[in-house]
Amino acid sequence: MQAIPEIRIRTGERPANPRGQFVLYWMSTARRLEWNFALDHAIARAGELELPLVIVEALPLEYRWANARRHRFLLDGMADNLEYARARRAPYYPFVERKPGQCDALLGLLAARAALIVSDEYPIDAPALIDAETAATLKAPTEWADSNGLIPLRAAPKAFSRAYSFRTWIHRVLHEHLLEAPTPHPLEGADRDPIRSLPAALLAEICRQWPAANAQELSREFALETRLPIAQRPAPTDEAGGFSSAHAALGRFLKSGLPHYERDRNHPDAHGASGLSPWLHFGHLSTHDIVHYLLDLEDWDPSRLGTHAPGQKGFWGLGAPAADFVDELITWREIGFNFCHHRADYDQFESLPDWARRTLNEHARDTRHEHYRFDELEQARTGDPIWNAAQAQLLEDGRMHNYLRMLWGKKILEWSASPKDALATMIELNNRYALDGCDPNSYSGIFWVLGRYDRAWGPERQIFGKIRYMSSQNARRKLRMKQYLERYSDQPRQDALL
Ligand SMILES: Cc1cc2nc3c(=O)[nH]c(=O)nc-3n(C[C@H](O)[C@H](O)[C@H](O)COP(=O)(O)OP(=O)(O)OC[C@H]3O[C@@H](n4cnc5c(N)ncnc54)[C@H](O)[C@@H]3O)c2cc1C
Repeated sequence: MQAIPEIRIRTGERPANPRGQFVLYWMSTARRLEWNFALDHAIARAGELELPLVIVEALPLEYRWANARRHRFLLDGMADNLEYARARRAPYYPFVERKPGQCDALLGLLAARAALIVSDEYPIDAPALIDAETAATLKAPTEWADSNGLIPLRAAPKAFSRAYSFRTWIHRVLHEHLLEAPTPHPLEGADRDPIRSLPAALLAEICRQWPAANAQELSREFALETRLPIAQRPAPTDEAGGFSSAHAALGRFLKSGLPHYERDRNHPDAHGASGLSPWLHFGHLSTHDIVHYLLDLEDWDPSRLGTHAPGQKGFWGLGAPAADFVDELITWREIGFNFCHHRADYDQFESLPDWARRTLNEHARDTRHEHYRFDELEQARTGDPIWNAAQAQLLEDGRMHNYLRMLWGKKILEWSASPKDALATMIELNNRYALDGCDPNSYSGIFWVLGRYDRAWGPERQIFGKIRYMSSQNARRKLRMKQYLERYSDQPRQDALL
């Protein structure tokens, strides 16, 4: 197993424990067994230390915005990983918490016996994430690996405030990182069965106290999420989590969506986007994996890099639709990770650029001619049919069309008592209902509504001040969405609501 780039590794203060019995990969945000730098790193460290490797994917009950919808998607991912690991006799242990505190106790026991814990680096909080504080409490040697995107989090010297400057910077450093991909299939031929490699007494104790979830329990039919003490609403959607559904969606998109991506992406009736964000969010799919398939499809080779000047989408030397898609996947997705990595206040109003805060504050007391309470917004009961349809899609499908997502946010700003109220409402609705919610990109999207990554616009308006304005009338004129409006015109199903 080749070493992963050093810039992707963060090492805790304690060296590996010489009396440790195994290397633990505690999987929390890169929830996949392929294309995963943290898994590569754990395998390499286990090899160096000549110790068995154990991969634990844990699902705690208590995490921010825990609910049956998010839990189901995570359980689907665990079912896929279990099947995949079984077929390769790989040391994967899926643990689903039934009572609060079990994950912490399992981690505590493993940490005391492990030579080393390898964990996922992630810039915001997430279920089962080992942050620096947890590592300090565990007093266990810990190393974190960054599998978040194509560009390592630590490569950027600062938080970028505009997409253009971030894109230009990425293009300048791309050649250093593009070819440093994680191993596509690191467990092929692994034969690291935990039953045989972990000390028998330890394994017996773990199995007795924290039995692994089996394939039946993880299946949709068993509906484990309904038997757990978590919020049952919003209910799961029909969309399955896990890398197999992610790959099916990627395959469909590359075959029939990508050629028309530029033309169709903004039109709700055209279904022109990839729909990959939930799988990306839960770590079921990696950007390296996507880029690998895309570049293959385009018959691309590194000599095409730099076809246009840095900062232009043509820099990659790809066809126009692929260039547009890569720009969303890399520039726009990773600028959100960049911001959260550098700014602890990523979810605070105060993190907005000065001009945006100033103009929003100046207009905070402007008269709101239309105002809706949180429950009216949540239940899609406003006077705007386009907004209601977008909110209904969010409630029912756990998704919202990309273009309408921005309009959705702008109208919440227009209808809320203050910009801070609007911010709180957007965060709550997005993260409660969206399958891709609670992601660094949740915050970049929501704060973009309020001026992050943007500039001042004129004319200055009521409520918005110099923040870019959007209207439903314009959207109706510009976008094809007749079927979309019909599809989402009914009142949302009750089980979709919290
Ligand atoms: C108010 C608001 C809230 C948002 N909340 C989220 C969220 O919770 N989670 C989330 O992942 N994205 C969020 N976004 C960004 C964007 O809407 C989604 O990433 C995109 O719609 C996902 O659909 P897709 O996978 O079909 O995208 P595609 O168009 O197929 O793009 C491919 C990938 O590129 C990335 N991407 C595309 N557009 C953006 C964008 N504008 N910003 C950042 N990354 C992008 C995503 O990872 C996406 O999966 C939000 C945007 C706004 C305006």
